[in-house]
Amino acid sequence: MRSYQLFINGQFIDAADGRTFESTDPFTGKPVASVARAGAEDVHRAVTAARAAFDRGPWPSMPHTERSALLKKVVDVINARQQELIGLEVSDSGSTIRKAKEDISLAARSLNYFAKMAAQPLESEIDGLSKPGFSRNILTWEPIGVVAAIIPWNFPLKMAIWKLGPALAAGNTIILKPSELTPVTAMELARMVSEAGFPPGVINIVPGFGSDAGEALVRDPRVDKISFTGSTAVGRKIMSMASETLTKVTLECGGKSANIVLEDADVDLAVDGALYAIFYHQGQCCEAGSRLLLPESLHDTFVDRMAAKVRRMTIGDPNDPATDIGPLISRQQRERVMGYIESGSREGATLAVGGRIPTDKKLEHGMFVEPTIFTGVKNSMRIAQEEIFGPVLSVIPYATDDEAVSIANDSIYGLGGGVWSADRDRALSIARRLRCGTVWINEWHLISEKAPFGGYKQSGIGREFGVEGIKEYAEAKHIHVDEVGIRAKKFWYDTVVPK
Ligand code: NAD
Repeated sequence: MRSYQLFINGQFIDAADGRTFESTDPFTGKPVASVARAGAEDVHRAVTAARAAFDRGPWPSMPHTERSALLKKVVDVINARQQELIGLEVSDSGSTIRKAKEDISLAARSLNYFAKMAAQPLESEIDGLSKPGFSRNILTWEPIGVVAAIIPWNFPLKMAIWKLGPALAAGNTIILKPSELTPVTAMELARMVSEAGFPPGVINIVPGFGSDAGEALVRDPRVDKISFTGSTAVGRKIMSMASETLTKVTLECGGKSANIVLEDADVDLAVDGALYAIFYHQGQCCEAGSRLLLPESLHDTFVDRMAAKVRRMTIGDPNDPATDIGPLISRQQRERVMGYIESGSREGATLAVGGRIPTDKKLEHGMFVEPTIFTGVKNSMRIAQEEIFGPVLSVIPYATDDEAVSIANDSIYGLGGGVWSADRDRALSIARRLRCGTVWINEWHLISEKAPFGGYKQSGIGREFGVEGIKEYAEAKHIHVDEVGIRAKKFWYDTVVPK
């Protein structure tokens, strides 16, 4: 079993009160690692280190190319250690090996993008305002300061990189708190960062629980920016705590994304696309296509074809490349998901397939739930309104395009959406009417570090990725440089200053 300490101010140390916790494998139920558990005192120390590194350390003023080169070093180590990281991600998070392979290579790709972005200062002349002989107007983006980043368990290393990359590229220092359920690859990242030679205090990684380490981070008034990814319920709490100090927040929260199939869609493609949209990583994705809107003309065939494919899915050991569906992250998550399945049946939806905990003896220690499809779902039911974060699809019939759009938008969430159609213009016009941050046409799940990603409504505040994502970690500064130079021409002074 591996063991990890906290990473604070460039040092690996135990928690001040000596506490540790165990991370367990969601397939075997066995411990994967013993991890130091950060408490309020450790968080205080981490913020002190990040504050000193920002206020007095070399990082914020380091030439952009040097910052970029340090980030690039980490990319190279992730690539070199790919196989080991894939294995760790599978055992710590229950990701299937096929997903974990993709995650580790995308983590390296994303960091490489942020390393490139770090090399370019974000600065421009303000169009239409600068005029020779009058003034120059520069818009420059400066680091905000100390960033506290709090992440969930569904994409552990990728999520850590998605916080570290843009925060560091913009010149901030950071304290990262990984999920208590999946700390392992974030702690390996701490080792990589330590070897790469970042100045002390620029990156601090404090594994721990939300109620102590998480809250201590959010409440520390020396933190300038909180970047949170997780549930909407915790996002609300964080925003409320941050309001005490007006600390800036980016919140990437939950979703209940609607996937609309039009009657002219390529059914073979759309059936597989809809299954991919919901069952990828057992439905534990913020932008999972968890509501499927089907026109009456396609409904029965579409559902039959999905159900037939679901019955062919292999539920099993996530280490086995033949496995399609692995375990959920924890017992608590499985109970939650099973609770929603019961609620769907109670509210009158029909179980088309799945709905049970598999009884196979080989799976008895894993947190499995069968991939599940409900039909006859009304959008007012809990299984259509609330985020389940598990392998449960709610199929909702619709009659017209307008009705499909109105059902899709009838949600407190607004993260993702999809439209399947042979007519791209029609699909595009529906995409424009969906109130959410990302829409895929004849696709799903393709998120790129180059394109902004985030939520409308209660799916969040702010955006990750692309230039927009980096700007979330920066303050806009306008510098006005006078070129008039002559008092007599500055008639606006006359409003108050005698000549
Ligand atoms: P969660 O909200 O329970 O926890 C997320 C993180 O917040 C964890 O690190 C946790 O320790 C911490 N936390 C919990 N309570 C806290 C508190 N009071 N103060 C400070 N920190 C606290 O979410 P989860 O179960 O880990 O992840 C699943 C959720 O994440 C889903 O709702 C999913 O939609 C969301 N998610 C969103 C995105 C996105 O980009 N929008 C991406 C992935 C996951």
